[in-house]
Amino acid sequence: MNNLSHIPSYLSAEHLGPWETFLVQIDRVEPHLNPELRPLTPILTRPMRALIVNVPIRLDNGEMAHFEGYRVHHNLARGPGKGGIRYHPDVTLSEVMALSAWMTVKNAVVNVPFGGAKGGVRVDPRQLSLAELERLTRRYTSEIHILLGQDKDIPAPDINTNEQTMAWMMDTYSMNEGRTAMGVVTGKPISLGGSLGRKDATGRGVFVATVEAARRIGMNIADAKVAVQGFGNVGEAAARLFSDAGAKVVALQDSSGAIANPAGLDVRAVKAWRQQHGTLVGALGTEVITTDSFWSMDADILIVAAMENQITATNAGLIRARLICEGANGPTTPEADLILQERGITVIPDVLANAGGVTVSYFEWVQDISAFFWTEDEINARLDRIMREAFAAVWEAAKTKGITMRTAAFVLGCERVLLAHKVRGLYP
Ligand code: NAP
Repeated sequence: MNNLSHIPSYLSAEHLGPWETFLVQIDRVEPHLNPELRPLTPILTRPMRALIVNVPIRLDNGEMAHFEGYRVHHNLARGPGKGGIRYHPDVTLSEVMALSAWMTVKNAVVNVPFGGAKGGVRVDPRQLSLAELERLTRRYTSEIHILLGQDKDIPAPDINTNEQTMAWMMDTYSMNEGRTAMGVVTGKPISLGGSLGRKDATGRGVFVATVEAARRIGMNIADAKVAVQGFGNVGEAAARLFSDAGAKVVALQDSSGAIANPAGLDVRAVKAWRQQHGTLVGALGTEVITTDSFWSMDADILIVAAMENQITATNAGLIRARLICEGANGPTTPEADLILQERGITVIPDVLANAGGVTVSYFEWVQDISAFFWTEDEINARLDRIMREAFAAVWEAAKTKGITMRTAAFVLGCERVLLAHKVRGLYP
């Protein structure tokens, strides 16, 4: 175990909310920014606007229930707001603010013309029927309507929201506007202007970024052992792509537990098992392992694709992987980040690693507003190119300046945002 006495305890997950984590990240980045842009940094430490809404709905039993919802625009200097909608019982304003800020940085790292936004409703969607979820989504969309629009703010799916949620949002917005507005959300079903390749895009971006990193540290993907936390949208697609590339997926974890097979799991069979039984646990050819065993798994690559604050000072010392790829947003606490850095573990930061989703969301938006649709091969080729170029820019900056990839990605993203502010000037 590491001696942590030199790492300030205020950097622990118990002391920092997600927004404070973002502020610590900005503090670490500021000294590395172009001195001409540095005076503008305080703009990034304040969200541009935050809307808190009450979302009352009629339950199936006739009673009324109230849920709190949020939509935050962190920064719109480079374009309309872009960021997902999360349904989770732990959603807070601090979390949505941080997620919106990470979207600002992420959109700038992959250089798509969007600002950063995020939304969420504090709800456990598993407690609601499909009809109740539809009413929740439609009322939430109406409550945040004043912020939305294809040239203002374009939501997308996040944890516990999906294509159906986006279809309801698009329909509700369109009904309120009196026209069909395809470009107002992304991650829609293909039948409604969705993009080919969007479903796997984040997982694909995670895979491409990891391949790029592995090559540079002399690791061969086809020989690699991979552990994946989270088996949803992002984690399942990433696990499948690693497995298809010949890597051994040796462990998977979701909120129901962790499973392992040191000889390699059959990712598609586990997915089918999960769809049937609602849990990974019990999938054929796998053994159930503890959470600690998951973190200390004999793996070369660890993909974290679940939630924030999963790698902490408690488990960062257990990790045996040489390479970590952050499919999730904010999965590593600032305290754990220092431990991983000291241990020489390469971390591909969230603002780069999971940018594949927003990149294909950008393609979906372009296709919707031009009413001209591309093939899946074109989309994947464009996605791979953007991910590889962004990865190379971040890697080079990290090496040249002698900083971590997280700091380098933030420097790249923040400088693009601050440059937009500089040339736009200050209104009035
Ligand atoms: P998702 O489809 O809802 O999947 C989340 C996965 O994480 C599920 O397998 C869930 O397990 C698991 N999980 C939740 N809490 C966990 C815990 N405490 N321990 C272990 N596993 C846990 O969500 P997603 O869209 O894949 O998003 C995952 C992460 O990627 C989030 O941080 C999100 O912000 C980020 N992200 C997503 C996208 C995108 O395009 N979807 C893009 C960029 C970033 P259960 O199913 O058992 O609950």
